[in-house]
Amino acid sequence: MEKTSVAVIGAGMGGLAAAAGLSRAGLNVTVYEQATKFTRLGAGIQIGCNAMKVLRGWGLEPMLRREAFYPRSWNNKEYDTGDIRFDMIFGPVAEEKYGAPYLLGHRGDLHAALASAVPPELIRLGHKLTGFEQLADQRVSLRFANGENTIVDAVVAADGVHSFVKDELFGQQKPNFTGRIAYRTVFPAALLNGYEIDDCTKWWGPDRHIVIYYVKPDRSEIYFVTSQPDAGFAVESWSAMGDVGELRQAFAGFHPQVRHVLEACPAVHKWALVDRDPLSRWCDGNVTLLGDACHPMTPYMAQGAAMAIEDAAVLSRCLKGVDRDGAAHAFRRFEATRKERTSRVQLSSRTNTWLKGPTDPDWVYSYDAWEAPLADLEQAKSA
Ligand code: FAD
Repeated sequence: MEKTSVAVIGAGMGGLAAAAGLSRAGLNVTVYEQATKFTRLGAGIQIGCNAMKVLRGWGLEPMLRREAFYPRSWNNKEYDTGDIRFDMIFGPVAEEKYGAPYLLGHRGDLHAALASAVPPELIRLGHKLTGFEQLADQRVSLRFANGENTIVDAVVAADGVHSFVKDELFGQQKPNFTGRIAYRTVFPAALLNGYEIDDCTKWWGPDRHIVIYYVKPDRSEIYFVTSQPDAGFAVESWSAMGDVGELRQAFAGFHPQVRHVLEACPAVHKWALVDRDPLSRWCDGNVTLLGDACHPMTPYMAQGAAMAIEDAAVLSRCLKGVDRDGAAHAFRRFEATRKERTSRVQLSSRTNTWLKGPTDPDWVYSYDAWEAPLADLEQAKSA
């Protein structure tokens, strides 16, 4: 029997995770990415225990343990006094409790790890999707900006918060601009000239915060990300640079540890923070959305990529052994299995209260996408 062919649109965290999962589930996967090469973006990423469980299933745990930092905790402190609001202990305690480590990495290292789980010949760079059509025989035809066309059995659109596929299927609505921006960068810890900082701390101010952590096991690189009001800047682009002087000014009232980090930092990127309300639908026929394309969220729980990675594991379970005729049902099952959880994370993240005070985080970190029950659509229909 010919393998079911699936086009994954986008080779971000979600697209690569989908390709890793679906190829292992026996599907014939091709990933189409608009960029002509992968760039190593200067940012950190928290890899929650829930995401690590999925990544372990693809054999990526040793690589990530080698590349990423293993923090004692995610500490939450008052912005000025440094008083502890809530110290969320990770390290071996959380690893044992949740069944996988919590790691802090360089975004480029996580992306590279995911890419290593996908045979390179399955990834087609320089392919921007510009049109698609669901055909009478349930196959889907795709058109790319470079003039190429293809026909596949099913499409997984992991094309990010501004998803072209979402707009085509469900209409164009811009994401919500939160009126807030993030400054972020990774830089060598050597620039701190021996000044010691905490493993990972979120410094909570009245209307702004900053999260600072190491992203390498030898503490050689530091990352920070802020969130602060700025209604006038709505650009989300990796190339938009911020003014370090303005940033230092914005955090002038913060604890000396924060000020020291900002003094040492040579340059920053500036990024507008957006999210969406949960969508009412993710899939239509043999096309589904995945990751930020269907549930973009603010970064305050550090769970956006983790949700995309969980999506990939659940999708691969739903599509395993399914042919073209079964793809639409498998996509509805995927959506029904995932939406309650991703909506809850989207809406909680928006409140920016995660770990601000004593919090029970079990519902986020203990989830295992390989074991979570898949929705039973027949039962749901008859209920
Ligand atoms: P994207 O990463 O946006 O990838 C989409 C891909 O699709 C891109 O490569 C794009 O080029 C491609 N594409 C788009 N349109 C087309 C097209 N028409 N044709 C072909 N290709 C196309 N998450 C965490 O889990 N932990 C964190 O600590 C964390 N921190 C964050 C901090 C900040 C400041 C922000 C903004 C987000 C953070 N996130 C974090 C969230 C995380 O970055 C996103 O949820 C994740 O990157 C989403 O992955 P994705 O693959 O769905 O989308």
